[in-house]
Amino acid sequence: MKARPIRCLITAGPTREHLDPVRFLSNPSTGKMGYALAIAAAAIGWKVDLVSGPVALPAPAGVKVHSVVSAAEMLVATKKLFARCDVLLMCAAVSDFRPKKTAAHKVKKNNAALVIEFEPTVDILKTLAKGKKPGQLVVGFAAETRNVETYARRKLKEKNLDFIIANHVGRAGSGFGADRNTVILLGSEGKRAKFGPSSKTKLAHILIEHLQAELKLVPSKK
Ligand code: C5P
Repeated sequence: MKARPIRCLITAGPTREHLDPVRFLSNPSTGKMGYALAIAAAAIGWKVDLVSGPVALPAPAGVKVHSVVSAAEMLVATKKLFARCDVLLMCAAVSDFRPKKTAAHKVKKNNAALVIEFEPTVDILKTLAKGKKPGQLVVGFAAETRNVETYARRKLKEKNLDFIIANHVGRAGSGFGADRNTVILLGSEGKRAKFGPSSKTKLAHILIEHLQAELKLVPSKK
């Protein structure tokens, strides 16, 4: 019997949380790591759905791209695709907050201070991981400016993940927007591996190969 391809869901890029039609809260994520992962996964024959926030990258060949803008839109898109995937790689830099109200028209200035009330967005990864089925691998990312490993371990546990890929951001030449990166892969069963500094392309291939090996350990589904 021919084995079916591994189905992988990857999220990438930032989200934008609009205050009005022309202003939003976001972050400097370029989507490079998520897109590199999608390319590496497709290259070894995985079927890839890529849910992407606004980025300036071309759609990778052989990958189905689902474009979204906000965290709420990303939640809807990933919820639909998660049930059918074997691996979720939640690489997107999802905004943790959004303005409580989005104005229908441009907010006008009037020389007074502007107070914006923010509310938390839904934690997409945590929400999806709660509904994880046996055999599904759920992988999160942790971008931290300090105590990288400690915070990543906490997230691994709190979000019920199988793996977390942690990296240091905010240093010149690594993390957001950079072409090179160093990451630490932490597993729920004690695995720890450090990769890099390497190009995001090379890191993506290494990480996908690691996950491929993990998937071989679980019974294959039809
Ligand atoms: O808690 P923190 O935002 O640092 O966790 C990072 C991980 O959680 C990433 O994998 C990110 O994609 C995911 N995340 C999410 N929904 C949010 C915030 C983060 O899925 N609202």
